[in-house]
Parts: sequence; structure tokens; C-alpha cells
Amino acid sequence: MFDKALTLIKKSKNILVFTGAGISTGSGILDFRSENGLYSLLSKNTDLPYPEAIFDIQYFKKNPKPFFSLAKNMLEQHAKPTNCHKLLAELEKNNQISLVLTQNIDMLHQAAGSKKVLECHGSFMSAHCLDCHSAYNLNDYKQRVLNDLIPYCNCGGIIKPDITFFGESLPSAFYDLVNNPPETDLVLILGSSLNVQPAAGFALEMAMKVPSILVNLAATPYDNAISLVYHEDLEVFAEYILRDNLIT
Ligand SMILES: [Zn+2]
Repeated sequence: MFDKALTLIKKSKNILVFTGAGISTGSGILDFRSENGLYSLLSKNTDLPYPEAIFDIQYFKKNPKPFFSLAKNMLEQHAKPTNCHKLLAELEKNNQISLVLTQNIDMLHQAAGSKKVLECHGSFMSAHCLDCHSAYNLNDYKQRVLNDLIPYCNCGGIIKPDITFFGESLPSAFYDLVNNPPETDLVLILGSSLNVQPAAGFALEMAMKVPSILVNLAATPYDNAISLVYHEDLEVFAEYILRDNLIT
């Protein structure tokens, strides 16, 4: 079923990968917008005026509790990478990856062994005080989150993980990438409906310059712009590609 994709992947030396929530649902991480996704679950949380408020910077400044309760769940979850995460780590070992650009904040690419990762919506690994901008890392604030406490800086400001909220700009590393894209001979889009800008727009722009493969359960508005489109389970795709030894 994935023969054409396998042929393309095998001959590519500089694959730019773009991943969204769909690559991590197999790890038990909720995606955002599907029927049983995070926002649907949060719509039952009466503390929140609307589900997306959990990632709204203005709301967070007034009431950081819902976000830290979600953060606690994520940090406690100990999710394991999927075969699809592992496939990308294997391709990197084979020197075939130019970059994995991910919208996910779950750190599962690194857990699988990928090193060339750019988290365009940030992650929990680092954090900053909202008031004095002091830098913290995950170990500085993790225990307080696990103990249901809001992590505060010595100055009294809230320590906010460096995850991009609505109303915040993306990490500067993302804009450096847009201005100076890596050499790319294949764009591989995994588990994204290409709806969240500006990252999806960049992936799409790159996809229109070289051969491209999209694997996502649901159709996207941009399927026509992609060379090979599969509306299939990502794990089935990953297992198929991994079954080949990938040595070209
Ligand atoms: Zn501070």
C-alpha cells in the first residue's frame, strides 16, 4: 500500500518532517480538535470560559490553575513514543533527516532518539517567569506542578513553561528556520491536518517545492498540493516502512 512512499523515502537524503498531534495519539496523548480530543474534554470543565482559554496567555495570567492541572496530567503520563516516532529516529541514524519540525509539546521525538527536532510550539523543557523573565528548566518547577502548586518565581511572577500560547509569538528558532530553510529533497507530513498557522503554512510551502508525502487519518484542505496522500493509520504506515531495512 505504501510502496511509492517507501521508494521515495529510501532515495531521499534530506527529509524535512512535519508532525502534528496525530503522531502522538498512539501514545495516549489527546489531540486537540477531534471528537474525543482535549478541547472536547475541556468543554466539560466549568472553570474555563471556553476550552481554548487553557492556552490563552491573558486567561493564564488571571487563572493559571487549569493549565497547570493539564500540565500535571501530561508530566505524570510517562507516554512512550510510537513506531512512527521511532521511524523518524531510525531515518536520522541513516543520515536522511534534515529536520523534524513538530507542533507537539510532548517531547516524544526526543524520547524516541531524534535529535534534529524543532518544537515550533515550544515544550515543557524550559520555562520563564512572566514578570522578570528569569529562565527555568523543567526540573526547577516540575515537582511543584506534580504537587498541585502553581510554580512562582522569587519575584512573585508565575513561571510559565515555554509553550506557545494563543496571543504569543512562536519561538525565534522557528522564524530562523523560515528565513533559512534547510536543504530538502522530500517533505514528510505526519499526523497533521495542516490547520494551525504559521507552522503548517511553512510545511506546505516547502512541500510544493519538492516531492511530498502526507499521512493523516482525515483529509486536509491541502491534499491536492501533496504528491502522495494516505488517509491511513500512522502506525500502519510506520510499521510498513520500518519492515524494510531502509539501507539504500
Ligand atoms: Zn520572576
